[in-house]
Order: sequence, then C-alpha cells, then structure tokens
Amino acid sequence: MTEGLIFDLKRFALHDGPGIRLTVFMKGCPLRCWWCHNPESFRNDSQVLERDNKIGDRIVGTQLEKIGQTFSIKTLANEIEKEIVFFDESGGGVTFSGGEPLFQLEFVKTALKYCKQQDIHTCLDTSGFAPFSAFEDILAETDLFLYDLKLMDDDEHKSYTGVSNRIILDNLKRLANTGKKITIRFPVIPGITDTHHNINALVQMLASIKTVSKISLLPFHNIAETKYQRLGIINQMKGVKSLTNEDLKHMQSDLQSMGYEVSIGG
Ligand code: SF4
Repeated sequence: MTEGLIFDLKRFALHDGPGIRLTVFMKGCPLRCWWCHNPESFRNDSQVLERDNKIGDRIVGTQLEKIGQTFSIKTLANEIEKEIVFFDESGGGVTFSGGEPLFQLEFVKTALKYCKQQDIHTCLDTSGFAPFSAFEDILAETDLFLYDLKLMDDDEHKSYTGVSNRIILDNLKRLANTGKKITIRFPVIPGITDTHHNINALVQMLASIKTVSKISLLPFHNIAETKYQRLGIINQMKGVKSLTNEDLKHMQSDLQSMGYEVSIGG
C-alpha cells in the first residue's frame, strides 16, 4: 500500500493556489535554503522532539511531539473529503507542498489521481529539483504548478540552497513547453535574492517563458527561529529582520509594469 510521510495539514489555506485549500506538507527536501520556514521538512523520516509546556512565560513541563505522520491514501482521502464543501464554494482544492512533494512521488501521484477522480482542483508547490520524469508522471493530474525560483546565479544558488539550479531552470522550461499553468514563487530574502543582478536575471529568464503570467512574492519572515532551536539546526538568518508586504510594493509594481500579475504573500 502506498504511504506518505506528512508533517502538517493546513486547512483553510488561502495562499497556496486559488480558493480555499487543504495544503498537504510532505516531509523530506533535498535543498537546505537558508531562509526555510519549514526546517522540520528537511529530513525524510519522522522525528520526536521535546516541547515546553508554558503558562505565560513560565515553563511548567515538557512533552514529546512527533514530527511526521505516516498516512495511507485512504487516511488522506478522509481528510480531503471533510474540506470538499469549502473547495466547492470557493473554487479551491488540494495543494501538495513540503519539503519537496516530488521526493515522495508514488504517494503524491496516487493522491493527485484520487483528487482528480473526485474532480478536485490540484496544485503542486515544488522547488523544481527533481528528475523531469517526476513532472511527467504527475502532469495529467496537476492543474497548477507553484514553481519556486530563488537565485539565478548557479554559484549563489549552491551557496544558499546547497544544490545547483541547472536542473530547476531546465525543468521549468520543459514544464512550460507542456502548456501547463505555472505560477512562479519568488522568496524575497534581504541581501540574498533581492539584489538587482538576481532580479534582472530572473526577469530576463522569465521573458523567454510565455506560459508564466503570475508571480507570487514571498516576503522573508524570521518566524522559524524557535523551530531551528528545537531541531538543533543552525539558523543562518538569525537576527535578520522580517520584511513586510509594504517593503515589497515597489518590486510588485515594477513586475506589474512588465505585464505580470503579481501577488504578495502567495
Ligand atoms: S525548497 Fe522549500 S522546503 Fe526545501 S529547504 Fe528550500 S524553502 Fe525549505
């Protein structure tokens, strides 16, 4: 039986595709982005961590928390069914995110098939770092790709994410050739991705991809500090201030003037 390792199910998600969505966060990611908000997704096994029980600021005890639950398709289908009424009313559906959802290809493929059998809209939020055959496997069952682009320079990409961007950029071009709908997600990270040379290179590259009409700007938030501490992972962005939507308005209007539909935050 196909099983998947999921670290979170987000109900009423409003920024992971159209309408009200159920976002399924798959565990396991081959990248190590410095700014990752979900470092609990890095490992592709379940982890048990201690969590403080607090009353106000006072720690009154600890409890163990398991990160990553094994789901069968049937268990996930039961969770999806509870949300169908909201999908129908809002034009929403199910989004597979992570981590990198293509890391658990068989499970995600079967889950996407289930959704399409139920006539549910599907999105895949991907880093693009997977063999193109993985995209081909889920193409027919995916209505919209949320495709993350971070750094155009390969050396910078390696430095800040741990992997080359070559396969990511190549997959994007090949995916665009299939005619599938793609929204680009661009994390705006101060001093790293928001440099002039990176944004210019991004715009130049996107100009050659005609099927991309929408860009989501994702402002950096230092909201995962506690997660990094609990996981014992160094937070490379420690102390860097979060950005607000206001900080991104200028970038939004620049990209809009180039003809893109640009949202902030998803
Ligand atoms: S690709 Fe996404 S989930 Fe993976 S490390 Fe980067 S930000 Fe985190």
